[in-house]
Parts: sequence; structure tokens; C-alpha cells
Amino acid sequence: MKPTKKKTEFDKKFYIKWMVIAMTAIWAAIAAVWLSMHNWDTEESMQALARAFTEQPAETEQEAPAEEEAPVKDEQPAPEETEQPETQPEEPKEEAPEATPKDATVYPEIDQLPAEPTIVKGILLANKQHPLPETYAPGENAEARAAFDSMAQAAAKDGLQLTAFSTYRAFDRQKQLYDGYVAKDGQAAADRYSARPGFSEHQTGLAFDIGEAGQEQHWASASFGDTAGGKWVKENAHKYGFILRYPEGKEQITGYMHESWHFRYVGKEAATAIYQQNITLEEYLGI
Ligand SMILES: [Zn+2]
Repeated sequence: MKPTKKKTEFDKKFYIKWMVIAMTAIWAAIAAVWLSMHNWDTEESMQALARAFTEQPAETEQEAPAEEEAPVKDEQPAPEETEQPETQPEEPKEEAPEATPKDATVYPEIDQLPAEPTIVKGILLANKQHPLPETYAPGENAEARAAFDSMAQAAAKDGLQLTAFSTYRAFDRQKQLYDGYVAKDGQAAADRYSARPGFSEHQTGLAFDIGEAGQEQHWASASFGDTAGGKWVKENAHKYGFILRYPEGKEQITGYMHESWHFRYVGKEAATAIYQQNITLEEYLGI
């Protein structure tokens, strides 16, 4: 038993000893080969060794450039970030007029009309965002009527017989009209050319639908803008305190499609500024 055990122990020690020697020799050989591959430069060999362990397999190497480009892409926002102080103030400026207009054509979700009308810079405002109280019933504005009469007299000298075929409209009358339009064309279409009760500018007593006497076919029609009368009013209304309330291409701001016949009395000062700057009432009031 003993000799056998000793022999076994001897064999094991012998085996381990030669295994260590063999492994050392193998690693030394590998190291020697590796060093020889890198010009016997230890530092270069170590760097190559490090690369060998960190490098990705061939398949992902193709993705590597993409990954390397990604940081470049990530770096691109960096210069943009530094430019943002310049570009950021511009972007809101561009977006703000768009954001406001986008809402201008859409009625707000409100449960009831306000108790008071909206007055900005001394000017009464009525649009889809600023409705009037149901009880607001001032009748036709006397100052606006006097201004219209002056304008009509001036137009008459140019051979044009202007008439205001629709001015003040009470809440109930607007409700009757709007409901009729909805029944005829549907609500979406009606909302583009008619105001819901409480939202009509005609309820202010300051809106005048203008046409020519004897030219009824152009009343409340886009074609009025192409007639001599329509062109005259568009170019002269501001002198009497009226503005073309819903100009072409401003639906997103005013909330309504172009109405060549609908004029609004705002007074000479505001009307002249709005006309000369070619802006809308909303833009003039800064809302
Ligand atoms: Zn009108």
C-alpha cells in the first residue's frame, strides 16, 4: 500500500512540475512569437495585445464605423447648442404666430359665454377666442354709422353707391342664422364662414357688411372684392376708421376665411395703422 501511495504521490508531483514547466515554456514561446511579430518592442507588443482583447469581432467591425459616426452625430448638436442662443429666440418668434393662428380657427371648449366683453387697447374684440356675453346687445354703433355715411358720401363722388346691407346682429338673430347654416352645410363648413352665436363681430354693432346698391349679386360674396366698389372700399375704408376685417390668407390669425365685404369700425388711428402695416386686428392688438 505504502509504496504504491508514494509512487502515486511522486507521479502527481512529477506531473504537476512538468506541467508548470511546459506551460511556462508554451507561454514563453507565445510571448517570444508575439514579441517577434512586433519587432521585439515590448510596448508595441503590449499595445497590440490590448487591442487584440478590446477589438470587436469582424462582424461588428462593420458596425464600428457607424458607432464612430454616432458620436460625430452626437457632437453635431453641440455646436448647435452653442448657436442656440442665436437660433432659439428666432424659432419661438416664428412658431408663436403659427401657434396662435392654429387656434384662431378653432372654437375653445367653454361651457358658457363670458360675463364681460373683451376690450384690448380700448378696442372691443370679438373672435372665436373672445366671445361676447349673450346679453351684450349695444345695437348699431352710432359713431360707426356716421363714419360709414361719410365714406359712402366720398364713394358717391366716385360714382359708387355703397350700402351696408348688414350691421348689428343680435345674439338670437346670429343663433338663428348659424343654426340654419349648420343644417344646410354642416357645422365644419358653417364655422368657416359664419360665427356661432356669441362669437359674431356683428353683435358688437361695429361690423358693417358693405356692398353696392344695385349690385346685390356681389353682396356677401368674394366677387365683391373684384368689383370697383369692393376695391374702392378696401383702399379707402381706413380713412373713415374701418378695416377689412378678414383679409385673404389670414384665416389662421383672424379665424375666418377672407370676406371682401366685412368691414369693422376701429377708429381712424387703429384703422390707418392696420392698413399701412397690412396686418390684422389680432396682430395690431398683439394677441
Ligand atoms: Zn359680416
